[in-house]
Amino acid sequence: MSDEKISLQSAICPMPLSHTDQIVIGHGSGGRMTHDLIQSVFAKQFSNPALDQNNDAASLNIPSLSQSCQRIAVSTDCHIVSPLFFPGGDIGRLAVCGTVNDVSMLGAKPHYLTAGFILEEGFAISDLIKIVASMKQAADEAVVQIVAGDTKVVEKGKADGLFITTTGVGFIPDGREIGGEYAQDGDQIMVSGTLGDHGIAVLAARGDLGFETTIQSDVAPLNHLIDLLLSAAPHTHVLRDPTRGGLATTLNEIAVQSQVGILLQEQELPVRDEVRAACNILGFDPLYVANEGKVIAIVPAAEAEEALSAMRSHPYGKDARIIGKVNSTPAGRVLLKTTIGATRVLDMLSGSMLPRIC
Ligand code: MG
Repeated sequence: MSDEKISLQSAICPMPLSHTDQIVIGHGSGGRMTHDLIQSVFAKQFSNPALDQNNDAASLNIPSLSQSCQRIAVSTDCHIVSPLFFPGGDIGRLAVCGTVNDVSMLGAKPHYLTAGFILEEGFAISDLIKIVASMKQAADEAVVQIVAGDTKVVEKGKADGLFITTTGVGFIPDGREIGGEYAQDGDQIMVSGTLGDHGIAVLAARGDLGFETTIQSDVAPLNHLIDLLLSAAPHTHVLRDPTRGGLATTLNEIAVQSQVGILLQEQELPVRDEVRAACNILGFDPLYVANEGKVIAIVPAAEAEEALSAMRSHPYGKDARIIGKVNSTPAGRVLLKTTIGATRVLDMLSGSMLPRIC
């Protein structure tokens, strides 16, 4: 788990860490204390044959290469969410799911993750243990392994508790061509569920709402949902998770990449009443609020009904909806047909609406 070649299965037993302990600078020294931290917290949860090789890098089996797979997908993500724990999740679940989802958005099957931890001196070991257990739980749900990692410690005041960087590797089955550049005139656009839950849940956890809410983050690994979707709609053109910048920004990116027009139906956009109410009070538009467990799928019209049924058959897609369609014009633009029948341009998010949301 470190660049100092520290054995995960050393013959020397680690000094047991107490749950009342805090991170100290020595935990990042690369010496005995780092070893103890790795053994007691990380190896305890993440142990697997690839990680336990104890070398500078993990040597990985590529199960899909024998099954007509020539390409891999790689993605990396830094996580700086504040607070570290929020309704429905924590930074650990977010770090695993965010990377699993980004790899899945190419139609790849994620297999392996790496994780880098930047810890601030004074951080509670008990919180680290909770976060690492949450990562393990999310990795088990996604059926991915964490195969390499690194731990560094910075002085008190030089970071905000904990930052996590994750990198993911997945395998792209041959013949699969999914990306933001493939949307075509006539395609149907669907979203797997309600919009804006994550961003509002994190704001609520910060106490920034000024009122009580039951909104939970939607943070979840979407790879199994996407497997179902692609079995039902194998010619899916685009998959993308509308994270920072929300649905509106993500669709603008796709409209530009594919040089197509996108027309959304406002009445079809799924937004929870509580999220809408919070957005009204704060002056936010839920179409720009971050999601961490939703996917936008752009599918040929002939496969749209099958795709929708497949998404709805999975717990993370039960509220899936067709929300609009792709047109040839206006190229690079997203238009919203409002509930009163007017049409307006839906632009990208400008500036930063909600900092440190993921
Ligand atoms: Mg993404």
